[in-house]
Amino acid sequence: MIPYGRQWIDEDDVAAVLEVLRSDWLTTGPKVDEFEKAFASTVGAREAVAVSSGTAALHAAVHALGVGPGQEVIVPAITFAASANAVVFEGGTPVFADVDPETLLLDAEAAERRISPRTRAIIAVDFAGQPCDYERLRRLAARNGLSLIADACHALGATYRGENVGTLARLSTFSFHPVKHITTGEGGMVTTDQPALAHNMRMFRNHGITSDFRNREASGSWSYEMEELGFNYRLSDLQCALGVSQLKKLPGWIRRRRQIAARYDEAFSSLPGVRPLATAPGVEHAYHLYILRFVDLAIARARDSIFKSLREAGIGVNVHYRPVHLHPFYRRRFGTREGDCPAAENAIGRLLTLPLYPRMSDDDVERVIGAVQTRVSGVAGGVEGGPR
Ligand SMILES: *Cc1c(COP(=O)(O)O)cnc(C)c1O
Repeated sequence: MIPYGRQWIDEDDVAAVLEVLRSDWLTTGPKVDEFEKAFASTVGAREAVAVSSGTAALHAAVHALGVGPGQEVIVPAITFAASANAVVFEGGTPVFADVDPETLLLDAEAAERRISPRTRAIIAVDFAGQPCDYERLRRLAARNGLSLIADACHALGATYRGENVGTLARLSTFSFHPVKHITTGEGGMVTTDQPALAHNMRMFRNHGITSDFRNREASGSWSYEMEELGFNYRLSDLQCALGVSQLKKLPGWIRRRRQIAARYDEAFSSLPGVRPLATAPGVEHAYHLYILRFVDLAIARARDSIFKSLREAGIGVNVHYRPVHLHPFYRRRFGTREGDCPAAENAIGRLLTLPLYPRMSDDDVERVIGAVQTRVSGVAGGVEGGPR
């Protein structure tokens, strides 16, 4: 089976983790600082705060902005549910805005239409690894007194008009789940240029306590204060050591992801009825996902059978994502329904995510291309009555 995504762990990653296992600190020790500093310098942000998952990163970011009951946060309809869940964790209301049908990125005009007197923030999701239109979104946020969070869990290593993802919004969140660009098993990071927000998030990840165990040890004091309600969202030294080791490989892995995506682009440009997601000029894509759109109706109708047939052939295709407002939880709790975000709803039945990860061989890539071409051209010829 060729999976849709997969980690890459080398012997030096294993050695980095073993070294920590043999040391004095398994959690919250020197590796946390080291990983945070290395990550901040990689993306060019002033602060990076390590947490236990991408979901925890989103939760910490929403909390740091002080979003609470009665307040709304605009979230794109197509994203992983955690982007919206983080708002709900804090008692806020996610308000779903539609996406651009060509890129599936948050549509700035749709976002603007969702702004109300209760809106506090916008969460922009760099879907598939392509940065959103941050110039427009930042203008929109500034004009309306809103904060901008970038859910950049797909986009580590991407740039927008020469600026790195991780520096484009007030807060940016990342995930280190094994299918993402680098992994710590589970893990996440928030970057920001504002030390006060970073301080708040460092408390939040440690029960809302003002100092961590290491500071207390260093100062010889037993005393600490819990300032506010926080969580245990810490990332361990074991995981941070893996993160430091993985981060060194990021540039090469991004190059490989772009290379595979370019080969897919080339192969599918000559396949009628099928188009990759559009990419905007001025961005360098990080290609967490490579997604095909079945623009031809007959092929779109056959999406589920193409999906099944590819899976049976050992090609680990996937679909990202069911529009969040159509999940039963959101329908029940917030009364969202079909028709709220038509572009997202129309897109979802036409999408297919192809395998893409740095360790994929050229042969694997060609096998995926061949398998997709055969099935798609089979449908176009069969259902619609002849090739176009
Ligand atoms: C992976 C992901 C998350 C959640 O990250 P976890 O580390 O799995 O908690 C959030 N948002 C998006 C867009 C993601 O892809």
